[in-house]
Amino acid sequence: MVTTILDIKNAIEITKRLLDGKQVILGSKIWDNIYKIQLEALEKKLANPVVESEHEGLTYYHCPNCEYPMSINEPTPEFTANYCNNCGQALDWRDKND
Ligand SMILES: [Zn+2]
Repeated sequence: MVTTILDIKNAIEITKRLLDGKQVILGSKIWDNIYKIQLEALEKKLANPVVESEHEGLTYYHCPNCEYPMSINEPTPEFTANYCNNCGQALDWRDKND
């Protein structure tokens, strides 16, 4: 199942209604979709180590979730973002700055 912006907006709206104590009656497939979206969002909040790879003498650093390129060669402060610009994954650079 592909998550769309509409799926996410619906999940947010239903979650808000639940938090407000409003009754929500939905089919199990919609609940599965909401739990999947919530799980993906929660997992992205936990910082995961940036992935390092070598190519033609250069060191590349990628997002561990979507492989978006984050930095090349030495990770400098301006290129060590706390979150991936592409997917929102929290990033852990700790062992890359030694
Ligand atoms: Zn990413």
